[in-house]
Amino acid sequence: MSAQEPAASANPYYSRTDTTKLHVGDAEWKRILPDSVYRVAREKATEHAFTGKYWNFEGTGTYYCAVCGNALFRSDAKFASSCGWPSFYETLRPGSVRYEADHSYGMVRTEVLCGRCDSHLGHIFDDGPPPTGKRFCMNSIVLEFEPGAGK
Ligand code: FE
Repeated sequence: MSAQEPAASANPYYSRTDTTKLHVGDAEWKRILPDSVYRVAREKATEHAFTGKYWNFEGTGTYYCAVCGNALFRSDAKFASSCGWPSFYETLRPGSVRYEADHSYGMVRTEVLCGRCDSHLGHIFDDGPPPTGKRFCMNSIVLEFEPGAGK
């Protein structure tokens, strides 16, 4: 277990290898997750721009879901964005995330959720760089970076 991985006793659902879909209710997540993580992951809050730990971070490695350990992004798909949140142009696997239409706050956006635990991660926009043109605009607090070999 890496130093960044929560103790299994604290979060029995956390795994970086098991990709089985989780069906865990909010009451259980509330018991397990720190309040700051719960607010974004389960209540869809957004962290303030330019405040998260990864918005201008450039380490080489892999980003995992901080709630369940699901592998989400590689650092080579991360790009410098002026938006103030960590931004990626593609996910690690097609099933890393899933999408839902989000009509909150009078906007039409596409929400990005963890493909394993359904936690809110952020939104996806069409103003990203090649090769996909997509910008996965994520909240740092629901990401967990693990240094590694990169590509
Ligand atoms: Fe997750």
